[in-house]
Amino acid sequence: MLAIIQQDPVSGHQSLHATQRLLKGQILTSFSHSRILETPSRFTLQVSAHQHILLSPPELLYTNHSCGPNLYFDTERMEVVLLKDVDQGEELCFFYPSTEWSMAESFQCQCGDPDCLGLISGAAVLNDAILSRYRLSPYIHEKWLERMMQIQ
Ligand SMILES: [Zn+2]
Repeated sequence: MLAIIQQDPVSGHQSLHATQRLLKGQILTSFSHSRILETPSRFTLQVSAHQHILLSPPELLYTNHSCGPNLYFDTERMEVVLLKDVDQGEELCFFYPSTEWSMAESFQCQCGDPDCLGLISGAAVLNDAILSRYRLSPYIHEKWLERMMQIQ
């Protein structure tokens, strides 16, 4: 694995960091599931309407959210892909709504990105302009298209 878990000595907060410089388009790792659940939890990744997977390798559980993500979880190829170049030591993050339509637990984001969206609770509540900025899983894309059809 090209990344390790680091723990903040003060907050105890754990996060995933690159162990070397990584390039846009590079594959960080392939992933699979240790379990498939029917309902989401804060540790699952949604792959279809009723399938929420617990990630394996387990290090991936420490991939935090960012509104300016550098990782994308490709749920078709089951690979974690770099969306941008990353320096050694930099935190690796993905955009939770890229795989989650409606999250089990919403939270107030403090990622520090200039375009931070604030409250994160899944793709369902994000408008079209915001969703169009991100690479979304096929499932989320499908849900978004369904929503657009309903509005018309
Ligand atoms: Zn944010």
